[in-house]
Amino acid sequence: MPELPEVESIKVQLEKYLLGHRIVDLIIHTPSVFEGKREDIVDTSFVSVRRFAKVLSLDLSNSKSLVVHIKLTGQLIYRGRNLPNPPSLSRKVVGGVPGKHTHVVFVLDENSFLYYNDVRLFGWIKVVNTKEVENIGFVGKLGPEPFGRQDGKPALLTYEKFKGILAKSKRVIKTLLMDQSKIGGIGNIYANDALWLAGIHPERQAGKLSDNEVKTLYDAIIAVLKKGIEAGGASELAFVTPDGQEGSYQNHTLAYGRNGKKCPRCKKSEFEKYFLAGRGTYICKICQKR
Ligand SMILES: [Zn+2]
Repeated sequence: MPELPEVESIKVQLEKYLLGHRIVDLIIHTPSVFEGKREDIVDTSFVSVRRFAKVLSLDLSNSKSLVVHIKLTGQLIYRGRNLPNPPSLSRKVVGGVPGKHTHVVFVLDENSFLYYNDVRLFGWIKVVNTKEVENIGFVGKLGPEPFGRQDGKPALLTYEKFKGILAKSKRVIKTLLMDQSKIGGIGNIYANDALWLAGIHPERQAGKLSDNEVKTLYDAIIAVLKKGIEAGGASELAFVTPDGQEGSYQNHTLAYGRNGKKCPRCKKSEFEKYFLAGRGTYICKICQKR
């Protein structure tokens, strides 16, 4: 599932490609993906792109917004004026654009297009009033996130807030980090990497970490998310950015997916994989003690 760095990478490109474009037509091939009225978005233009944890809001000139949750395999692909020499599409864009997995096409001015592709069809697009985006079901329930705002939503996860969330919890730390209602944006890849970087076992009880461990973990989360954003995200499953390219974080993970490989910190133990709450969990038994 795409996490904060992946969706941030999409956001950065959409800002570059979409702002100023006008929507001239809307083609819906799969009605279940799109909730909203055609007349609410045709003849409007894109004025801003925002991200709330893993959700995108494409804000339009008529105070409506297109809220997009790509879930597991959704893809937003742009082709047009603001990408003059488009790179060839990743093979992860199954069927191409438009293709058999293209469910919605936003026809833009100047012969440009924004395609929504989705193989598994868990993702969705909804038209809502811009001022209501922060409060719609899923977005309204998001916890503060590491790159949030000092004022407004998503709220900024400061160290003090992080400490407070952990102190109150009896849950194991890895599961808590991935709970979007407590902390927005962290999924399995970055939770694994942050815990290894901080030298903390995923099953430690959140409320029992020392102040020093909490600070180390907070810094580790910021560091791995920044590294993810710099790499353009991790391309597992179907993740691509709107230019149709893959990110590269999957080639630079610290612990995630590294089972059988030697731990670069202690250089003694190999990473082991097991399942915690149904999710692949990777640890070095020497660096991450219970
Ligand atoms: Zn180690």
